[in-house]
Amino acid sequence: MKIIVIPGDGIGPETMAVCTHVLETVSDKLNLQLQLVPEIAGHDSLKKHQATVTPELLAKVKDADGLMLGPMATYDFKDESKGEINPSKYFRKQLDLYANIRPAKTFPKIPTRMNPFDLAVVRENTEGFYADRNVESGNSEILVTPDVSISLRRITRHCCDRIAKTAFELAMTRKKHVSIVHKANVLRVTDGMFMDSCYNVAKNYPEVTVDEFIVDAMMAHVVRNPERFDTIVTTNMFGDILSDLTAELSGSLGLGGSLNAGDLYAMGQAAHGSAPDIAGQDIANPFSLITSASMLLNWLGQRHQLPIYIQAAKLIDLCMQQAIDAKETTIDIGGSLGTFQTGKQFIQRIQAA
Ligand code: NAD
Repeated sequence: MKIIVIPGDGIGPETMAVCTHVLETVSDKLNLQLQLVPEIAGHDSLKKHQATVTPELLAKVKDADGLMLGPMATYDFKDESKGEINPSKYFRKQLDLYANIRPAKTFPKIPTRMNPFDLAVVRENTEGFYADRNVESGNSEILVTPDVSISLRRITRHCCDRIAKTAFELAMTRKKHVSIVHKANVLRVTDGMFMDSCYNVAKNYPEVTVDEFIVDAMMAHVVRNPERFDTIVTTNMFGDILSDLTAELSGSLGLGGSLNAGDLYAMGQAAHGSAPDIAGQDIANPFSLITSASMLLNWLGQRHQLPIYIQAAKLIDLCMQQAIDAKETTIDIGGSLGTFQTGKQFIQRIQAA
């Protein structure tokens, strides 16, 4: 299996170095025969190729079996005509990675103010309120006059159906409970369509309990009682916001792993951004990327019927649980190690397992 590895911006090079070493170690231990191919995107690529991503890179990713994408300094990339393309959007759209799965759970040894919980946000990834991905050509934010601006939100039945199906399939492997998060009280047409799709898909999963929450109230519910949720399905922007909240409630955004998956391709990518406030300080938590890598291995195992890949993902998850129990972690979740040392001890743990 060939995996393209892109470190990204900000804390990306630090955390992706650890993640790459973890993948190499797991590959050696379980004979996965992973081939990790380093590539660049974001600021590095802008300097070298005058574009944050290139069609050549896309071709290499399409030719590979998976992609690990580091965090991107998206806010810096403002003008596509100057090659400043949002790499996350580029891969999500070009590879049709419509489902962004963002799990969040508490660990007994990580201090939080919450009751223990274990949930997953399933977020639509290819349309919604994201101006750079919901029109065929150009951008869906329009400056009508210097003082009037419009942003369009695209919701299609096709995308609603497939994200709902992903959520219900995932719920069948979890606690069989799907919560639909929406704003259909105001966005009656678009979120009305989303709700309609979710309830239609729900008919195929009679064992799954379904409830629904308006997105603003959801923020209160998830802070108050995160333990009442299992699988949460929602549209693009609501899922983006909600999943940062659930990751932080679990202890740190630095625990927020995620998988961007389509029918043919998948990309592991942490839920957070490039964290410029802590970049280069050896304090970023690498567990978000390591969890994302585990999710990618699991996806590859399911897709290609390779149980050893699923076993590799389980081994990474187990070692993470043990590392957290032993407080071999970065400071954001109560440990005292730097990024590099957290990785070093994690690798020893995998070797010894
Ligand atoms: P951020 O997600 O980078 O950081 C938010 C907070 O979380 C910061 O305090 C940061 O230090 C902390 N944090 C993030 N990752 C951490 C980790 N692994 N360990 C410990 N703490 C961590 O959000 P931001 O600062 O608003 O955005 C920075 C840049 O990232 C912007 O350019 C933004 O557009 C971009 N961004 C990219 C992605 C992506 O690539 N998928 C996602 C979100 C934001």
